[in-house]
Amino acid sequence: MTQPLTIALSKGRILDDTLPLLAEANIHPAEDISKSRKLIFDTNHDHIKLLVIRAADVPTYVEYGAADLGISGKDVLMEFNSENLYEPLDLKIATCRLMTAALKGAVLPEGRLKVATKFVDVTKRYFAEQGRQIDIIKLYGGMELAPIVGLADLIVDIVDTGKTLVANGLEPRDHMAYISSRLVVGKAAMKVKHAQIQPIIDQMSAAVDRQEEKRQQEAEQ
Ligand code: AMP
Repeated sequence: MTQPLTIALSKGRILDDTLPLLAEANIHPAEDISKSRKLIFDTNHDHIKLLVIRAADVPTYVEYGAADLGISGKDVLMEFNSENLYEPLDLKIATCRLMTAALKGAVLPEGRLKVATKFVDVTKRYFAEQGRQIDIIKLYGGMELAPIVGLADLIVDIVDTGKTLVANGLEPRDHMAYISSRLVVGKAAMKVKHAQIQPIIDQMSAAVDRQEEKRQQEAEQ
């Protein structure tokens, strides 16, 4: 018997890139996700359901087995830092960079740095590796404001075009990590449902390759 499978999708920016990729992998929601307030959706496959949840919650659902697979930003996965998740595939969507940034031209203090971020653990690990002492100021958004009002010397945030930094008089400093969305699988689910999960990984992998080819062809035109 085909066992049921649940895939947790990240709401927001990532979802816009996820749905075309799922379609390319022949997984179609039964109704238009972007026009619905529902959080759980049937698909064209009787045994596959989709959950649409906050990006930061996806690893939790997959770790506890409430979803078998998930699509999650590498930034979220780095911060979640779980040993119970496999990350079999870079989906190459929602790509951006995790960076430090400071006020344009600012000279950083020699001693302890005040760093504002929502990526608390990633930031601690990064500066510990550099042997740099920091005080973390945990914020939930709008990190760019912190250096302007003197709350922090540096921020750690996601940068895509860099326009948000520039608009707030900041400049990028260190490139900490390449970020893109990843397919994640719970280790327990992988054991119990391998026969169902592996074909999805293969389909998604082929879909990523086809999308890459399309992008390259468009770039060459
Ligand atoms: P930008 O002005 O294009 O550099 O975009 C920066 C802002 O957009 C950041 O503050 C992020 O919160 C958000 N952002 C951009 N790309 C992503 C992404 N792939 N995943 C999550 N947030 C993103």
